[in-house]
Amino acid sequence: MKKVVKFGGSSLASAEQFKKVGRIIRKDETRRYVVPSAPGKRTPDDTKVTDMLYSCYGQAILEEDSEVCFEEQFRAIEERYNSIIEGLDLSLSLEEEFKTIRTNFSKKIGRDYAASRGEYLNGIVMAAYLGYEFIDAADVIFFDEKGNLDIEKTDTILSERLERTERAVIPGFYGSGPDGRIRTFSRGGSDITGSIVAKAVHADMYENWTDVSGFLIADPRVVKNPKPIDVITYRELRELSYMGATVLHEDAIFPVRKEGIPINIRNTNAPEDKGTLIVEDTCRKPRFVITGVAGKKDFASITIEKAMMNSEVGFCKRVLEVFAENNISIEHMPSGIDTMTIFVHQDEFEEKEQKVIAGIHRAVEPDFLELESDLALIAVVGRGMRATRGTSGRIFSALAHANVNVKMIDQGSSELNIIIGVRNHDFNAAINAIYDIFVKTMI
Ligand code: ASP
Repeated sequence: MKKVVKFGGSSLASAEQFKKVGRIIRKDETRRYVVPSAPGKRTPDDTKVTDMLYSCYGQAILEEDSEVCFEEQFRAIEERYNSIIEGLDLSLSLEEEFKTIRTNFSKKIGRDYAASRGEYLNGIVMAAYLGYEFIDAADVIFFDEKGNLDIEKTDTILSERLERTERAVIPGFYGSGPDGRIRTFSRGGSDITGSIVAKAVHADMYENWTDVSGFLIADPRVVKNPKPIDVITYRELRELSYMGATVLHEDAIFPVRKEGIPINIRNTNAPEDKGTLIVEDTCRKPRFVITGVAGKKDFASITIEKAMMNSEVGFCKRVLEVFAENNISIEHMPSGIDTMTIFVHQDEFEEKEQKVIAGIHRAVEPDFLELESDLALIAVVGRGMRATRGTSGRIFSALAHANVNVKMIDQGSSELNIIIGVRNHDFNAAINAIYDIFVKTMI
């Protein structure tokens, strides 16, 4: 049994947090490969080390005299690490590392290099604390010329290296390009490193430790004390994260998904909680009919009506081309016999609306065209919906009871999700009504 464990910034923000992480790792000897982020916020108004590094590097490359600012910021970063080292009673010194980083900053070596030092240094501290081997991600994670992950090269070299290594710490977020220079993933990218490592060692589990006990059925800013999700499939997760529910970096799913490795989201501050298990598929009956409900506000809709539209070859294509020409991405496209409606992001659409309307008129000569704004889309997601009759009926009667007018309904053919369009101002009421009918009344 082998587990890869990734710890987010808040789990490693201070010596206290490091100690919790140490206890978690030592409790289970199969936790052999550790991927740390950079130290995160200790309090809500604290600054993440990654942000400190970006800002400090910004000072370093300024032409005018910014020496004082740079010094102050660099010292604050040193201080963050030194206080962790002291708090852990380690006989480690990062003096030489800081010296090298300073020199490289003065050579204006690159923003990615600067940001990556947060994970790099934290990896060194973590390895010393655990007594694990430190492996620099620059030696085992590779990017191509375009800055995309080179998964084949990475997988070959990384798996070979880890096969010879019983226990190791591999810092998250970065790797190196074909020219040997440091490259990073997008923000939150340590999740991706964890997933790549899990794939390379054929892990039995990828544990992703953060500061929440997994995914919640609904957004806690909308629903009071929502229940956690025990098990979710990759596809369900994709639907929910598309609608704005985020805990994990989106690109972290692909490497492990290919290998059928489950991801377990866990809480460093509540390690006894089971968290959420993300799996390819499961026979386990979901606790509730819905797995989750999430949504986004601020959409506009364009409804096009034309008699006999369905028999006109290429109608949809011509309409969609108008949007493409104006560089507007389409979010959703429910259609009827003689109508089609297109949902777009309001802010993207607003300044181009008249051009789009004129374009549609020219392209397909509709009988009627109508615009609506301030709409929200809500996705009700659940593998349990397929086996349960009357799910949509229950959703709509709950919404009717809550006095919410439904503007649009769309059920994906996978029966995994139902998308509902409502007015922005009905958004919270709608989500609460759906949560109540499927979750609250079932407890
Ligand atoms: N430290 C990086 C960030 O703040 C990467 C990560 O935490 O995953 O985005």
